[in-house]
Amino acid sequence: MGEEATADRQDTDEERPDQDGRPQPSKRTDGPDLAEVSNWEIVTHYFDDAAGRLGMGDDVAAVLKSSYREVQVQIPIVRDDGKLQVFSGYRVQHNGARGPYKGGIRFHPEVDLDEIRALASLMTWKTAVAGIPYGGAKGGVNCPAEEMSDREKEAVARSFMDKIEKVLGPNRDIPAPDVNTNAQTMAWLMDEYGKLHGYTPSIVTGKPIALEGSLGRESATGRGLVYMFEEAAKDAGIEPADVRFVVQGYGNVGSWAARILEELGATLIGASDAYGAILDEGGIDAAKLAEHVKEGGKVCEFDASQQVSHDDLFEVECDVLIPAALGGMIHERNADKIRTQILLEGANSPTTPKADQILADNGVHVIPDVMANAGGVIVSYFEWVQNMQHMRWEEDDVNTRLRKIMQRAYRHVKEKAEDREIPLRPAAYELGIERVLDASRTRGYIPKG
Ligand code: GLU
Repeated sequence: MGEEATADRQDTDEERPDQDGRPQPSKRTDGPDLAEVSNWEIVTHYFDDAAGRLGMGDDVAAVLKSSYREVQVQIPIVRDDGKLQVFSGYRVQHNGARGPYKGGIRFHPEVDLDEIRALASLMTWKTAVAGIPYGGAKGGVNCPAEEMSDREKEAVARSFMDKIEKVLGPNRDIPAPDVNTNAQTMAWLMDEYGKLHGYTPSIVTGKPIALEGSLGRESATGRGLVYMFEEAAKDAGIEPADVRFVVQGYGNVGSWAARILEELGATLIGASDAYGAILDEGGIDAAKLAEHVKEGGKVCEFDASQQVSHDDLFEVECDVLIPAALGGMIHERNADKIRTQILLEGANSPTTPKADQILADNGVHVIPDVMANAGGVIVSYFEWVQNMQHMRWEEDDVNTRLRKIMQRAYRHVKEKAEDREIPLRPAAYELGIERVLDASRTRGYIPKG
């Protein structure tokens, strides 16, 4: 996809802590050397691999691989300097066999149809593995959100909603935050939808608490990662309190995972953002670093024994490495240098297929995105359920239910992995594909095999 070559920015979910008008650092250091593998190639490879093992016919595979609907719209806005500029917006609904389409909306200059199509497909398998009643979708606008004012971002969000509202709906397609979008963006989207359809909080998830957002949604992806790690740790005989870990991309997902792991007694020894990376074998205070970043600080300005390059951070010896930045960051040129026991994928598609093979050969245990980072969409599901009833659950209740679903997903994938003697990623794809195929056949979309 040609991810941004100079940054290791946070991915997956309501990312950059810059949405409240806080000052943004302007200068970036060089990011990791990125391989030219697109998100589409990554997801397609993992799908084809699983479909092949399942003995799926090409005709059925063609249906499951392609999108149900792809919408491209123009988003013209007047910039703060008075100039008119037009962006492209996309919403891809990949598969709706198991429920309404579901997935985030990202604002990023490199968004294109291929990327959104790939990420929509990943959402289909992710919701199926989690066993929540949704299909998969993704949306995006190719605007430079990091350089835009709140007024400009609001104009983009409202214009995008005006163009795509006809294909959305609480029982049709429910957007959520993703890279460079957050609760405020969801509030604008909901408000715009409401102008046409009346007050409808269930049209988007990841909303502010004041607008029927769910308690626990903001931390959900990071928390879900930790819940899944705890399951894997039990299996591997690892004590969380003994764990030394590194977070690549200290945004929403990475910083929440770090804070929650720290509460379990684990030690953060390395972290990065788009501008640099730090390392401290003596331990970095995860909660204080999160506060520093939230206030607009760069990770590399935080008190730590060493400043290192993005590439060096990947080479740190640790028990758990959490990539929580953009896709394709772990590729064939750096995979061999990774010295972690467990790779816990917070980002979407952080690992290319070649890198995945190298990691497997080197004995790295990968807990893949398609199961590990499902916490966000799981709590989105809880938010949607609460919205339908106009009820609010206690945060403890949200977290307890999240843990149960993460544990269940882990158990199901693990059983399949053992049964088929394959790693977790191919097992998760097989499980997701089987569930979607079963729903498609039962509903009559695909003839019974
Ligand atoms: N953007 C998140 C993801 O990639 C969450 C999507 C959602 O909550 O619908 O999983």
